[in-house]
Amino acid sequence: MALTNISLPSLEKIASGKVRDLFALPDLDTLLFVASDRISAFDVIMRNGIPNKGAILTLVSAHWFRVLAERIPGLRTHFINLDMPAGVSADEARTIRNRSMQVRRLQVLKIEAIVRGYLTGSAWKEYQAEGTVHGLAMPAGMQLSQKFPEAIYTPSTKADLGQHDENIHPDDAWKELGDRETARRVQELSLQIYKTAAAYAEERGIIIADTKFEFAKDVAGNIYLADEVLTPDSSRFWPKDTYEVGRDQDSFDKQFVRNWLIKEGLRGEEGVEVPEDICKATEERYKDAFLKLTGKTFDEAAGN
Ligand code: ATP
Ligand code: MG
Repeated sequence: MALTNISLPSLEKIASGKVRDLFALPDLDTLLFVASDRISAFDVIMRNGIPNKGAILTLVSAHWFRVLAERIPGLRTHFINLDMPAGVSADEARTIRNRSMQVRRLQVLKIEAIVRGYLTGSAWKEYQAEGTVHGLAMPAGMQLSQKFPEAIYTPSTKADLGQHDENIHPDDAWKELGDRETARRVQELSLQIYKTAAAYAEERGIIIADTKFEFAKDVAGNIYLADEVLTPDSSRFWPKDTYEVGRDQDSFDKQFVRNWLIKEGLRGEEGVEVPEDICKATEERYKDAFLKLTGKTFDEAAGN
Protein backbone atom coordinates (compact mmCIF):
# COMPACT_ATOMS: atom_id res chain seq x y z
CA MET A 1 0.00 0.00 0.00
CA ALA A 2 1.18 3.46 -0.83
CA LEU A 3 1.35 5.97 2.02
CA THR A 4 0.24 9.44 0.94
CA ASN A 5 -0.50 11.04 4.27
CA ILE A 6 2.19 11.07 6.96
CA SER A 7 0.96 11.61 10.47
CA LEU A 8 3.39 11.64 13.42
CA PRO A 9 1.46 12.84 16.48
CA SER A 10 4.56 13.14 18.67
CA LEU A 11 6.38 15.54 16.30
CA GLU A 12 5.45 18.98 15.02
CA LYS A 13 4.97 19.14 11.25
CA ILE A 14 6.56 22.37 10.10
CA ALA A 15 6.11 22.10 6.34
CA SER A 16 4.56 19.91 3.74
CA GLY A 17 5.66 19.83 0.10
CA LYS A 18 4.24 17.93 -2.82
CA VAL A 19 6.11 14.79 -1.79
CA ARG A 20 7.81 15.38 1.57
CA ASP A 21 6.79 16.43 5.04
CA LEU A 22 9.22 18.14 7.39
CA PHE A 23 9.06 17.68 11.16
CA ALA A 24 10.83 19.54 13.96
CA LEU A 25 13.06 17.48 16.26
CA PRO A 26 13.99 18.34 19.85
CA ASP A 27 17.44 19.43 18.66
CA LEU A 28 16.34 22.59 16.89
CA ASP A 29 19.17 22.46 14.35
CA THR A 30 17.84 19.14 13.04
CA LEU A 31 14.78 18.29 10.97
CA LEU A 32 13.14 15.00 10.15
CA PHE A 33 12.75 14.92 6.37
CA VAL A 34 10.08 12.35 5.50
CA ALA A 35 9.30 11.22 1.96
CA SER A 36 5.73 10.05 1.40
CA ASP A 37 4.67 7.85 -1.53
CA ARG A 38 2.94 10.83 -3.16
CA ILE A 39 3.80 11.50 -6.78
CA SER A 40 3.54 14.85 -8.50
CA ALA A 41 3.78 15.51 -12.22
CA PHE A 42 3.46 18.84 -14.02
CA ASP A 43 3.30 20.43 -10.54
CA VAL A 44 0.14 18.63 -9.38
CA ILE A 45 -0.12 15.79 -6.89
CA MET A 46 -1.83 12.58 -7.99
CA ARG A 47 -4.64 11.23 -5.81
CA ASN A 48 -2.88 7.93 -5.14
CA GLY A 49 0.79 7.17 -4.52
CA ILE A 50 3.46 4.76 -5.74
CA PRO A 51 4.14 1.93 -3.25
CA ASN A 52 7.66 2.12 -1.70
CA LYS A 53 8.47 5.37 -3.50
CA GLY A 54 9.22 7.35 -0.34
CA ALA A 55 11.67 4.74 0.91
CA ILE A 56 13.32 4.39 -2.51
CA LEU A 57 13.84 8.17 -2.75
CA THR A 58 15.19 8.39 0.79
CA LEU A 59 17.64 5.51 0.39
CA VAL A 60 18.78 6.69 -3.07
CA SER A 61 19.40 10.20 -1.72
CA ALA A 62 21.32 8.84 1.26
CA HIS A 63 23.44 6.75 -1.10
CA TRP A 64 24.29 9.82 -3.16
CA PHE A 65 25.08 11.96 -0.12
CA ARG A 66 27.71 9.37 0.85
CA VAL A 67 29.07 8.94 -2.69
CA LEU A 68 29.32 12.69 -3.26
CA ALA A 69 30.90 13.40 0.12
CA GLU A 70 33.60 10.83 -0.73
CA ARG A 71 34.28 12.22 -4.18
CA ILE A 72 33.96 15.97 -3.64
CA PRO A 73 36.22 17.08 -0.80
CA GLY A 74 34.75 19.91 1.23
CA LEU A 75 31.20 19.45 -0.10
CA ARG A 76 28.68 20.35 2.61
CA THR A 77 25.36 18.50 2.58
CA HIS A 78 22.31 18.69 4.84
CA PHE A 79 22.40 14.91 5.41
CA ILE A 80 23.03 13.84 9.03
CA ASN A 81 21.88 10.21 9.27
CA LEU A 82 19.10 7.69 8.67
CA ASP A 83 18.56 7.04 12.38
CA MET A 84 15.12 6.77 13.84
CA PRO A 85 14.65 9.85 16.07
CA ALA A 86 14.46 9.20 19.80
CA GLY A 87 11.06 9.16 21.43
CA VAL A 88 8.82 8.19 18.49
CA SER A 89 6.18 5.54 19.15
CA ALA A 90 6.31 2.04 17.66
CA ASP A 91 3.50 3.03 15.28
CA GLU A 92 5.35 6.15 14.16
CA ALA A 93 8.55 4.17 13.70
CA ARG A 94 6.67 1.78 11.38
CA THR A 95 5.29 4.72 9.38
CA ILE A 96 8.65 6.38 8.77
CA ARG A 97 10.85 3.28 8.50
CA ASN A 98 13.27 3.78 5.55
CA ARG A 99 11.53 6.95 4.45
CA SER A 100 12.92 9.43 6.95
CA MET A 101 16.25 11.18 7.12
CA GLN A 102 17.65 13.52 9.74
CA VAL A 103 18.91 16.69 8.09
CA ARG A 104 20.37 20.00 9.12
CA ARG A 105 17.75 22.71 9.38
CA LEU A 106 18.79 25.42 6.92
CA GLN A 107 17.55 28.34 4.89
CA VAL A 108 16.73 26.95 1.44
CA LEU A 109 17.91 29.14 -1.45
CA LYS A 110 15.25 30.43 -3.84
CA ILE A 111 16.49 28.72 -6.96
CA GLU A 112 15.99 25.37 -8.69
CA ALA A 113 19.57 24.51 -9.66
CA ILE A 114 19.02 22.48 -12.82
CA VAL A 115 21.89 20.92 -14.76
CA ARG A 116 21.37 19.43 -18.19
CA GLY A 117 23.70 17.00 -19.90
CA TYR A 118 21.30 16.11 -22.73
CA LEU A 119 18.73 18.02 -24.78
CA THR A 120 15.20 17.02 -23.73
CA GLY A 121 12.02 18.22 -22.01
CA SER A 122 11.35 21.95 -21.86
CA ALA A 123 14.91 22.61 -23.11
CA TRP A 124 14.15 20.72 -26.35
CA LYS A 125 10.97 22.79 -26.82
CA GLU A 126 12.86 26.07 -26.36
CA TYR A 127 15.70 24.90 -28.60
CA GLN A 128 13.31 24.01 -31.44
CA ALA A 129 11.58 27.38 -31.17
CA GLU A 130 14.56 29.67 -30.49
CA GLY A 131 17.81 27.75 -30.92
CA THR A 132 18.59 28.50 -27.26
CA VAL A 133 18.29 26.74 -23.88
CA HIS A 134 17.36 29.05 -20.98
CA GLY A 135 18.47 31.85 -23.30
CA LEU A 136 21.92 30.29 -23.85
CA ALA A 137 22.95 29.91 -27.50
CA MET A 138 23.39 26.25 -28.44
CA PRO A 139 25.07 24.63 -31.46
CA ALA A 140 22.84 24.48 -34.57
CA GLY A 141 21.35 21.19 -35.77
CA MET A 142 21.11 19.42 -32.40
CA GLN A 143 18.70 16.48 -32.20
CA LEU A 144 16.32 15.36 -29.46
CA SER A 145 18.20 13.60 -26.61
CA GLN A 146 21.59 14.67 -27.95
CA LYS A 147 24.39 15.20 -25.44
CA PHE A 148 25.48 18.82 -25.00
CA PRO A 149 29.18 19.46 -25.71
CA GLU A 150 29.41 20.39 -21.99
CA ALA A 151 26.83 20.03 -19.22
CA ILE A 152 24.97 23.32 -18.78
CA TYR A 153 23.61 25.06 -15.71
CA THR A 154 20.02 26.13 -16.44
CA PRO A 155 18.33 27.40 -13.27
CA SER A 156 14.68 28.18 -12.79
CA THR A 157 12.77 30.22 -10.28
CA LYS A 158 11.34 28.39 -7.28
CA ALA A 159 7.65 29.10 -7.55
CA ASP A 160 5.29 29.08 -4.58
CA LEU A 161 2.78 26.23 -4.27
CA GLY A 162 0.33 26.26 -7.18
CA GLN A 163 2.64 28.34 -9.39
CA HIS A 164 4.99 27.05 -12.09
CA ASP A 165 8.75 27.48 -12.01
CA GLU A 166 10.11 29.69 -14.76
CA ASN A 167 13.29 28.98 -16.71
CA ILE A 168 15.87 31.75 -16.39
CA HIS A 169 19.24 32.62 -17.90
CA PRO A 170 22.08 31.62 -15.53
CA ASP A 171 23.32 35.21 -15.50
CA ASP A 172 20.02 36.24 -13.91
CA ALA A 173 20.12 33.68 -11.09
CA TRP A 174 21.72 36.18 -8.70
CA LYS A 175 18.55 38.26 -8.81
CA GLU A 176 16.67 35.35 -7.19
CA LEU A 177 19.49 34.70 -4.72
CA GLY A 178 20.27 38.26 -3.75
CA ASP A 179 24.00 38.26 -4.44
CA ARG A 180 26.41 37.32 -7.19
CA GLU A 181 28.86 35.33 -5.05
CA THR A 182 26.12 32.92 -3.90
CA ALA A 183 24.95 32.57 -7.51
CA ARG A 184 28.48 31.83 -8.71
CA ARG A 185 29.06 29.23 -6.01
CA VAL A 186 25.69 27.50 -6.60
CA GLN A 187 26.45 27.26 -10.32
CA GLU A 188 29.96 25.92 -9.69
CA LEU A 189 28.73 23.31 -7.18
CA SER A 190 25.80 22.26 -9.39
CA LEU A 191 28.07 21.52 -12.34
CA GLN A 192 30.67 19.79 -10.20
CA ILE A 193 28.07 17.55 -8.51
CA TYR A 194 26.34 16.75 -11.80
CA LYS A 195 29.60 15.78 -13.50
CA THR A 196 30.67 13.58 -10.59
CA ALA A 197 27.27 11.88 -10.41
CA ALA A 198 26.88 11.47 -14.18
CA ALA A 199 30.25 9.68 -14.40
CA TYR A 200 29.35 7.43 -11.45
CA ALA A 201 25.93 6.57 -12.94
CA GLU A 202 27.25 5.99 -16.43
CA GLU A 203 29.65 3.33 -15.14
CA ARG A 204 26.52 1.63 -13.77
CA GLY A 205 24.47 1.81 -16.98
CA ILE A 206 22.45 4.96 -16.29
CA ILE A 207 22.58 8.24 -18.16
CA ILE A 208 21.57 11.21 -16.00
CA ALA A 209 20.05 13.35 -18.72
CA ASP A 210 19.29 16.20 -16.36
CA THR A 211 18.69 16.86 -12.69
CA LYS A 212 17.60 19.49 -10.19
CA PHE A 213 19.45 20.37 -6.99
CA GLU A 214 18.44 22.56 -4.11
CA PHE A 215 20.97 24.40 -1.98
CA ALA A 216 20.66 25.98 1.41
CA LYS A 217 22.65 28.26 3.73
CA ASP A 218 23.45 28.10 7.43
CA VAL A 219 23.58 31.22 9.59
CA ALA A 220 27.29 31.61 8.87
CA GLY A 221 26.55 31.74 5.12
CA ASN A 222 28.01 28.31 4.23
CA ILE A 223 26.29 26.64 1.28
CA TYR A 224 24.95 23.09 1.57
CA LEU A 225 23.50 20.60 -0.90
CA ALA A 226 19.98 20.01 0.49
CA ASP A 227 16.66 18.33 -0.38
CA GLU A 228 16.58 15.01 -2.24
CA VAL A 229 19.49 14.36 -4.59
CA LEU A 230 19.75 12.58 -7.91
CA THR A 231 16.56 10.56 -7.47
CA PRO A 232 14.21 9.42 -10.23
CA ASP A 233 11.89 12.25 -9.09
CA SER A 234 14.44 15.03 -9.43
CA SER A 235 16.28 13.66 -12.47
CA ARG A 236 15.81 12.04 -15.84
CA PHE A 237 17.47 8.63 -15.77
CA TRP A 238 17.90 6.84 -19.12
CA PRO A 239 19.17 3.30 -19.65
CA LYS A 240 22.54 3.59 -21.34
CA ASP A 241 22.21 0.37 -23.34
CA THR A 242 19.18 1.53 -25.34
CA TYR A 243 20.17 5.20 -25.67
CA GLU A 244 19.80 6.53 -29.18
CA VAL A 245 19.92 10.12 -30.33
CA GLY A 246 16.97 11.62 -32.26
CA ARG A 247 14.11 10.11 -30.25
CA ASP A 248 12.55 10.02 -26.79
CA GLN A 249 14.31 7.58 -24.46
CA ASP A 250 13.01 4.84 -22.21
CA SER A 251 13.36 6.01 -18.66
CA PHE A 252 13.69 4.90 -15.05
CA ASP A 253 11.98 8.04 -13.77
CA LYS A 254 8.58 9.62 -13.58
CA GLN A 255 8.57 10.45 -17.28
CA PHE A 256 6.55 7.24 -17.49
CA VAL A 257 3.75 8.84 -15.46
CA ARG A 258 4.04 12.11 -17.39
CA ASN A 259 3.68 10.21 -20.68
CA TRP A 260 0.57 8.44 -19.40
CA LEU A 261 -0.97 11.78 -18.32
CA ILE A 262 -0.26 13.31 -21.73
CA LYS A 263 -1.71 10.30 -23.55
CA GLU A 264 -4.89 10.51 -21.47
CA GLY A 265 -5.20 14.27 -21.89
CA LEU A 266 -4.81 14.71 -18.11
CA ARG A 267 -1.68 16.89 -18.04
CA GLY A 268 -1.95 19.36 -15.15
CA GLU A 269 -5.38 18.06 -14.00
CA GLU A 270 -6.05 17.96 -10.25
CA GLY A 271 -7.03 14.80 -8.41
CA VAL A 272 -6.00 12.24 -11.02
CA GLU A 273 -6.10 8.59 -9.97
CA VAL A 274 -3.18 6.77 -11.61
CA PRO A 275 -4.22 3.20 -12.61
CA GLU A 276 -2.75 0.25 -10.75
CA ASP A 277 -0.66 -1.02 -13.68
CA ILE A 278 0.97 2.40 -14.24
CA CYS A 279 1.76 2.64 -10.49
CA LYS A 280 3.26 -0.85 -10.49
CA ALA A 281 5.35 -0.19 -13.61
CA THR A 282 6.57 3.10 -12.10
CA GLU A 283 7.55 1.35 -8.86
CA GLU A 284 9.47 -1.25 -10.88
CA ARG A 285 11.33 1.48 -12.78
CA TYR A 286 12.29 3.26 -9.55
CA LYS A 287 13.51 -0.05 -8.11
CA ASP A 288 15.48 -0.77 -11.26
CA ALA A 289 17.24 2.58 -10.99
CA PHE A 290 17.92 1.85 -7.32
CA LEU A 291 19.59 -1.46 -8.11
CA LYS A 292 21.70 -0.06 -10.93
CA LEU A 293 22.89 2.93 -8.90
CA THR A 294 23.50 1.33 -5.53
CA GLY A 295 24.32 -2.27 -6.53
CA LYS A 296 21.71 -3.53 -4.05
CA THR A 297 18.11 -4.55 -4.56
CA PHE A 298 15.68 -2.22 -2.85
CA ASP A 299 14.40 -5.05 -0.61
CA GLU A 300 17.95 -5.86 0.49
CA ALA A 301 18.72 -2.20 1.27
CA ALA A 302 15.38 -1.77 3.04
CA GLY A 303 15.91 -4.88 5.15
CA ASN A 304 12.67 -6.42 3.90
P1 ATP B 1 9.87 22.27 -4.08
O1 ATP B 1 9.50 22.55 -5.51
O2 ATP B 1 10.15 23.46 -3.24
O3 ATP B 1 10.88 21.15 -3.93
P2 ATP B 1 8.13 20.33 -3.35
O4 ATP B 1 6.67 20.35 -3.36
O5 ATP B 1 8.90 19.51 -4.33
O6 ATP B 1 8.54 21.77 -3.47
P3 ATP B 1 9.01 18.55 -1.35
O7 ATP B 1 10.16 18.02 -2.12
O8 ATP B 1 7.79 17.73 -1.20
O9 ATP B 1 8.65 19.99 -1.90
O10 ATP B 1 9.43 18.95 0.13
C1 ATP B 1 10.71 19.30 0.46
C2 ATP B 1 10.76 20.72 0.98
O11 ATP B 1 11.78 20.82 1.97
C3 ATP B 1 11.14 21.69 -0.13
O12 ATP B 1 10.38 22.86 0.01
C4 ATP B 1 12.60 21.98 0.15
O13 ATP B 1 12.99 23.23 -0.34
C5 ATP B 1 12.66 21.89 1.67
N1 ATP B 1 13.98 21.55 2.23
C6 ATP B 1 14.89 20.70 1.72
N2 ATP B 1 15.99 20.58 2.50
C7 ATP B 1 15.77 21.38 3.58
C8 ATP B 1 16.53 21.73 4.75
N3 ATP B 1 17.73 21.17 4.97
N4 ATP B 1 16.00 22.60 5.64
C9 ATP B 1 14.78 23.15 5.42
N5 ATP B 1 14.00 22.88 4.33
C10 ATP B 1 14.49 22.01 3.42
MG1 MG C 1 10.98 18.74 -4.00
